[in-house]
Amino acid sequence: MRQRRKNECEICGAPASHVCPICGRVVCDKHWAGDKCIICAETICAICGKRLSIATCAICGRPVCEECSIQVNPVVRVCIECAEKYSIETRDWPPRDIVELELRKLSTRLEEFVKKWRLVARS
Ligand SMILES: [Zn+2]
Ligand SMILES: [Zn+2]
Ligand SMILES: [Zn+2]
Ligand SMILES: [Zn+2]
Repeated sequence: MRQRRKNECEICGAPASHVCPICGRVVCDKHWAGDKCIICAETICAICGKRLSIATCAICGRPVCEECSIQVNPVVRVCIECAEKYSIETRDWPPRDIVELELRKLSTRLEEFVKKWRLVARS
C-alpha cells in the first residue's frame, strides 16, 4: 500500500486543511463541503445525512444508508420515506404504476445521457 502523506488533499494533492469526520480523508478547501469531504457529501445518506449510502432509492433516486432504506427484493431498495409514501411492503413489490413511472423516467434520463455523451464525443 502506498503511504499517503498527511496534510495533502487525498483528492487533488493540494495542502489539506480538513479531515472528514466520516471517511477520515484529509482534503483541501476546494474539496471540503462544510462538514465533510465532497466525496462523502455526494455519497452520504440523503435522509439521515450521517451514514454513507449503500444504495439509491429505486423510487426517488436519492442515496440512502442501510438504516434509512428497506430491501424490498434482492436487487431493489427504497428509502423509508418512499416506502411510507407508497406504503410499500416487501411482499407486493413492485407496484405496477411505480414500475411504469420509473421506466419512463429512466428512458428520458438515458436519452439525456446519450445526448450529452454525443456532445462530448464531438468536441
Ligand atoms: Zn483537494
Ligand atoms: Zn469523507
Ligand atoms: Zn440514513
Ligand atoms: Zn425514496
